[in-house]
This record gives sequence, structure tokens and C-alpha cells, in this order.
Amino acid sequence: TTFSASSVYSLSNFYSELMKGVGASERVFELIRLQPAIVPSEGKKINVLGNIEFRNVAFKYPTRPTHQVFGSLNLKINKGDHVCLVGPSGCGKSTVAQLLLRHYEPLSGSILIDGQPLTDVSLASFREQTGVVQQEPMLFSGTLRENITYGKMDATEEEIQKVCDLANCTSFINNFPDKLETVVGSRGTQLSGGQKQRIALARTLLLGHRTDKKVSVPEAYSSRGELLLGPSILILDEATSALDAKSEEAIKRTLKLRQEAGLTTISIAHRLSTIKTSDKIVVFNHKGVIVEYDNFDKLYADPKSELNRLLSKSESGEETEEKDE
Ligand code: ATP
Repeated sequence: TTFSASSVYSLSNFYSELMKGVGASERVFELIRLQPAIVPSEGKKINVLGNIEFRNVAFKYPTRPTHQVFGSLNLKINKGDHVCLVGPSGCGKSTVAQLLLRHYEPLSGSILIDGQPLTDVSLASFREQTGVVQQEPMLFSGTLRENITYGKMDATEEEIQKVCDLANCTSFINNFPDKLETVVGSRGTQLSGGQKQRIALARTLLLGHRTDKKVSVPEAYSSRGELLLGPSILILDEATSALDAKSEEAIKRTLKLRQEAGLTTISIAHRLSTIKTSDKIVVFNHKGVIVEYDNFDKLYADPKSELNRLLSKSESGEETEEKDE
């Protein structure tokens, strides 16, 4: 049996959702509730360009009907943008990703993808073109090579090398005696949090290449013409939190290349160190309302910005407040 990369990828997405559930009973219930949304809806197959719009989105989690996460969220992210969502703990940053991936549906309002309601688009087709790297990505027992090529088993040696470079994995992999054949997982080599994040990023960069559009980023192409910068939309859920400064720089460069290639990236910063890698910042207040949306440099230069208030709060180690019921 052969699987297409996309079906394996959807499966791996589902599997990683499942694995997150194991060990946390809450999550298992969450997953059960997710079932109806996971069944792929009939809908148009689209070639995702990466323009995202939340229009008057209201949302409460079904299990917490007393708690409004969003009253009327309006958020526009253009193709090729790299935006970073920041705000106090519990303000709804991860919920934006949950809604975008249609793990939940808005109570009212709509989410548009390239101008079309997400509900009209085939869920499978959309998710094939949307990558997610979590803070604690799941690697399975097997070799590093198997982990990296999980969603694209026909990747060439050159493509594997290139995504390892783009995700800043090459030097630590080469420091293992068995290199790409190093076995990881419970009975193998244990990787650090930052190493796992980089392997997960390399895996994601192999996915969702688009050959229909020529971009001026030659170093990100393989010799068989595949663009090695990942899917049209990439969600990094605090996925670079465990990186040292050098890796962070390297990955920042890769995310810049994504931008040049017109690919959209959404970073979710639960810790404020993450924002250094993005250029547009969306600041939420504790009520899930966007209070600032601008370039990082501009907000950072303004001593009165909400961003600077959050930064100084996090530097002083002050706890960010949970929002009221
Ligand atoms: P943090 O940075 O602390 O992770 P966040 O901004 O990502 O926070 P969300 O995870 O989006 O916040 O949560 C928004 C609100 O929804 C919070 O009040 C949270 O407690 C609640 N919430 C999150 N997930 C669920 C869920 N599965 N069921 C019920 N409530 C939830």
C-alpha cells in the first residue's frame, strides 16, 4: 500500500493529537469531542494561498459555556506575513489556532481563507496545506531519518540535507555517531526539547511544497525543483521556545525565506522571547480583544505600547492574570 504524503501527514497530525491525549484524560475527552469536526467535510479542494481572515468571530469552548473566549474577533493575516500572537495567559492565542484548524467551530462570525469561508473548503485539503509545530513535538521511536521523512517518504538525500540545514539540525545530527540513522525514542537517544523542535520543523519543511509558483528563493529549492519551506500556512505554537540564540537566528532566517516565498507563518508566543523571530505582532488583552496589531519594531520603539508593558511585566517575573469568568 502506498500513502500519499498528505494522507500520511493528516494521519500524523491526528496521531500527534492522539498522543497528546494519552496521559492527560482531559485531552482524551477533548479528542472525543473533536470527532465530528475531524470527519472531513464535503467541500471544495483549494490551493491555499495563505490569506486568513477572522470576521466577527465569537467563541466559547463547549465545555465552558459561561466563559467567552472571543466576543467579536477581527483579524486579518495576509499571505506571506509572519505574525506573532502575544498576550496574557489564557487570552485565546492557542484558540486562534484551534479555530483555524477547525478543531472547533465559531459560535458566530466566519473564518475566511483566501476570501472563502473555511466551512466551504474541504477540511482535508485545507489541513494538508497547513502545518503545525508544537512546543513539545512528538517524535516516535525510530531513526531521525524516519522522523524527518514521515510525511514525505520519497524525499531525496539532498532534500533531507537541505531541510536539516534550514531547521538548523545538521550539526547536532552529525555529532551523533550514527547521524541520521540514530535511533530516538524511549529505547534510543534522548533529544533535548530544542532538538525535538528542530527535527519537527525539518519534518514540516518537507511538507506541502508548491511547484506551481516560482519564487526568488533559490537556496530553498531542491535540484528536483521542490520548495523546501513547508506548507502555505505554518503555525508555530511556541515551537521555538527551547532554542538557543544561534538556532533561533538560523530559524529566523528560514522564516524570512518563507515570507519571501509568500508563505504565511503564525507564531504563538506563550513566552515573550519567541517574538524576536516575527515581524508583525498581534497583542491581545486578557478579554481576548486585539489591542495592538503592528510591526514589531514600531511597537517596540513606542515606550507606551502594550507590547512593552507586557515585556516589562514578563521581565519582572510578574504573573500574567487569568481572565475573569
Ligand atoms: P497560554 O499562553 O497560557 O497558553 P492562551 O492565550 O493560548 O494561553 P488559550 O489556550 O487559547 O489561551 O485559552 C483561552 C481560554 O480558553 C482560557 O481561559 C482557557 O482556560 C480556555 N480553554 C482553553 N482550552 C480549553 C478547552 N479545551 N476547554 C475549555 N476551555 C479551554
